[in-house]
Amino acid sequence: MSRPARPDERAHAHPARAAWEFQDPILVDCPACGACASVRVTEPAAEDRFHRVSFGARRMTCSKCSAVREQPASQISKPSMGLPLRLVAPTRHGELKFYNLEHLDYVRAYLADRVRTETFTEDGPRNASVFSRLPAWAKRAQARDEVLAAIDKARAKAA
Ligand SMILES: [Zn+2]
Repeated sequence: MSRPARPDERAHAHPARAAWEFQDPILVDCPACGACASVRVTEPAAEDRFHRVSFGARRMTCSKCSAVREQPASQISKPSMGLPLRLVAPTRHGELKFYNLEHLDYVRAYLADRVRTETFTEDGPRNASVFSRLPAWAKRAQARDEVLAAIDKARAKAA
């Protein structure tokens, strides 16, 4: 007879998602005051008749100092407008970066689980998925508590 699984061994499903799904908004350091500012898409990405993709226009706004920066649509992908990401979790092994709180919580829930299963849909992202791109050290059980603590510290910077 097989032993029943302990609650922490039960597999939780973490649907695969691509990083770009978390790029609106992107939280950055405000270049004017250093507070948490937000970059949003103001015009969606588009493809011209030569199938050249142009990345959509973006606008940064800071609710603390009211700074506003604009970035026109461009052939070059600059999702955070060249500004440093706000949600960075440094650890002894390296750092994890997150575009926004949804992205951070998504990765945190995955790393917090002892049993990690990523469910894929037929047309879903596979190699481009956020989890498949996490560094190996972040997924190691020994680093788990340190990594989660660093992520929680990063979360507090979103205010
Ligand atoms: Zn500001």
